Amino acid sequence: MAHLSPDGSVLDLPHAAKPVFRGPHGPVPYVARWSAEEVLAAPIVETPRGIAYADESSVDRDRNGLLWSRVASRPGVGEPIYRQMHPLRQRRAMRRLLCQVCAGPADHNDHGTLWLLQDQHELWPGWPEGAQNTHPPLCLRCARISAKSCPWLKQGFVAVRAQSFLSGASGGLYRESWFRPRLSKPQARTLHIGDPRLRWLQADQLVRELVGCRFVELERPGHAT
Ligand SMILES: [Zn+2]
Repeated sequence: MAHLSPDGSVLDLPHAAKPVFRGPHGPVPYVARWSAEEVLAAPIVETPRGIAYADESSVDRDRNGLLWSRVASRPGVGEPIYRQMHPLRQRRAMRRLLCQVCAGPADHNDHGTLWLLQDQHELWPGWPEGAQNTHPPLCLRCARISAKSCPWLKQGFVAVRAQSFLSGASGGLYRESWFRPRLSKPQARTLHIGDPRLRWLQADQLVRELVGCRFVELERPGHAT
């Protein structure tokens, strides 16, 4: 099934589950935030169980009780902000292992799911084994397109096959412990599942830990280099 982009050009993405918008650098990733998707007012209050919204509704938390930042959902309106991910779309793609560009299924084989990562091999020996990753995986077609067109990846990237599991969330932390006062300004943190501070986190991204990593070539993604 083909998709029509706003300028009328047809994007042939056979497994795409959502409309794909085309920008100056090619398809705009499904997870990218658009300029019309403003952060919505969300008055934070404290309860004995952690932070909450004063006017909280059931859609503000996920199945694990994590409080999520409120951002309007208007994909395709305004300009794409490539460096930011929309919290709900990032969360959906990470939870279901959807391609971050077309929202179809990411590419999987016996060696795991396909990921494109900014090359940070200097971080630790054996990187990216154990990396806490917030960027959803890709299908093979979108990975090949992104490798050529994504400005972020042009700074150096690697294609990796890896298994993964949901390992935590990142966002703004409002309090470090029961014994410390609430922070005047939330601090950016990535917390693991089980961390007692999650009760004070306003989440905006899910995190997956990558395990069993092997580098692959995009033209032969089933083969280790
Ligand atoms: Zn894709």
